[in-house]
Amino acid sequence: MPCIFCSIIEGKANAKIFYQDDNVVVFYDIAPKAPIHLLICPKQHFTDFISAPPEVRSRLADTVQKVSDMLGDRGKDFRVQINNGPGSGQIVFHLHYHFLAWG
Ligand code: 5GP
Ligand code: ZN
Repeated sequence: MPCIFCSIIEGKANAKIFYQDDNVVVFYDIAPKAPIHLLICPKQHFTDFISAPPEVRSRLADTVQKVSDMLGDRGKDFRVQINNGPGSGQIVFHLHYHFLAWG
């Protein structure tokens, strides 16, 4: 089944990119639930949090810090959320952390 986040990572689908490096990409959620709503993803495809190895999870946590630093005052009130599995509300099965900020 095609993965929309892999398509974004490969540049085949559009998204507003906030940050990327060799391993992660951060882009704006298409249906924001806060004034700033970012999705932090590994470039490598993993279905969900529990499928990903510790180093991938750690890299995403490092990226949370980077995003927070980059936003500065614009992101000082924020929430980080991981949905793991359909019962939690996960609808895109490419691992991502939500970063929601209210400034
Ligand atoms: P989940 O519920 O799986 O944790 O969240 C998936 C998120 O991906 C949702 O907040 C949804 O709005 C977002 N999303 C779904 N499809 C796209 C898309 O094509 N582009 C972007 N930028 N976000 C998407
Ligand atoms: Zn994917």
